[in-house]
Amino acid sequence: MTLQQIEIFNTLTRKKEKFVPINPPFVGMYVCGPTVYSDVHLGNCRTFISFDLIYRYLVHAGYKVRYVRNITDAGHLEGDRDEGEDKFAKKAKLEQVEPMEIVQKYTLGFRDVMRMFNTLSPSIEPTATGHILEQIEMTKQIIASGLAYESNGTVYFDVEKYSQKNNYGLLSNRKLEELLEGTRELGGQDEKKGRLDFALWIKAKPEHIMRWPSPWGSGFPGWHIECSAMSTKYLGTTFDIHGGGMDLIATHHTNEIAQSQACNHCEPVKYWMHTNMLTVNGVRMSKSAGNGFLPMELFTGNHKLLEKGYSPMSVRFFMLQTHYRSTLDFSNEALQASEKGFERLMNAVNTLEKLKTSEKSSSDIKPLHAKCYSAMNDDFNSPILLAHLFDGVKIINSTHAGTETISKEDLDLLKKTFHDFVFDVLGLKEEESASNNDELANNLMNLILEIRNEAKAKKDFSTSDKIRDGLAKTKISIKDSKEGTTWELQK
Ligand SMILES: [Zn+2]
Repeated sequence: MTLQQIEIFNTLTRKKEKFVPINPPFVGMYVCGPTVYSDVHLGNCRTFISFDLIYRYLVHAGYKVRYVRNITDAGHLEGDRDEGEDKFAKKAKLEQVEPMEIVQKYTLGFRDVMRMFNTLSPSIEPTATGHILEQIEMTKQIIASGLAYESNGTVYFDVEKYSQKNNYGLLSNRKLEELLEGTRELGGQDEKKGRLDFALWIKAKPEHIMRWPSPWGSGFPGWHIECSAMSTKYLGTTFDIHGGGMDLIATHHTNEIAQSQACNHCEPVKYWMHTNMLTVNGVRMSKSAGNGFLPMELFTGNHKLLEKGYSPMSVRFFMLQTHYRSTLDFSNEALQASEKGFERLMNAVNTLEKLKTSEKSSSDIKPLHAKCYSAMNDDFNSPILLAHLFDGVKIINSTHAGTETISKEDLDLLKKTFHDFVFDVLGLKEEESASNNDELANNLMNLILEIRNEAKAKKDFSTSDKIRDGLAKTKISIKDSKEGTTWELQK
């Protein structure tokens, strides 16, 4: 199988580049995972769904991908620059449990949501707490290279010294002076030498529970070092793709590059990929603006901004209708349009199985098939791919209606195109329809009514009344007539 030639927009160079893996057909991809101290928010879901699409397409295109997505379960302070309280400790105090109980609860919750969105599991899902030794080792090596220093039990990365030979602001395309302007002045008491210095290892305060012994005393790793340590361990000192949300560019990913470069003396990543933000009715989604809904609220419709609930697959479809590098705007209108679009697509997939073939085709399927690949080869352009698939939907529906014809050969290719792109690449799937639940409810109700009729026939009215009253309590009313007994849900 020849590999597809893919172009990727590289944040590092700010242009689309031909994707040439270091060691084809193998591809190493690292994506910054969730910090599991609260429910995963929708912006993160978009990032992980986008990289699920990228992963799925790379695999479909013949690459052998090792996909690493970490779980941050230690070391993440409230501020990106090592200030504020530890996120896990704060939540643990609030819920009166151990920090690791917080980690377990929200890791499981995160995986549930990812499963609902039909994302594939990464090849490796390493945790920060599982890689303390690697992080200590890397910190030691950075100190040995002269680019980090210890100050009162905390180890800082020396950004100014690093900048003498390296471009610290490369990824965010900003000069060191500009970055300095954006940070606060050091106070007299500060342990840091420079304003941009960040912690690799943090001294634990006496009340801090999550702590490990280290050459610098008892403490815990900084947030950024875990990704450098784990990506190096599983993907090597230079690997192909590193991804995350674009809010990670300025600090987290910038620091990752600096740490890895300082430790391994080479550029860590060939292609940096970033997903864009979410907005709601045109306003940036955020907790503080009160317009940030959680995935579960979106599924149930239980949020003041939502008119109704939207199924996980229609939300996934909705997200894929926008390119990962564009902002994605949530509105009830757009979600409802996606719901219809998703249904139309799935109906067409079902109709495809029923199509009858003719001698000749009225439209050529080969160009459609090729266009689907071109769309995905162009920086994973899922909205364009969907537009081509909807051209296919028209052909399917017209052929079913008898206004177009299709040959056996073309029908096979059309089926393959839809199967490959709708299921394997876009990761959509048929949702368990309401009719399945309806069938179950019908069977159960028939059984209950049969028992009630038998009781009545035996003049056991206490049982038959008990059934009727019990059903009424669950808002099910039953009606007896000559034809038999029927039931309905009270509105
Ligand atoms: Zn990371």
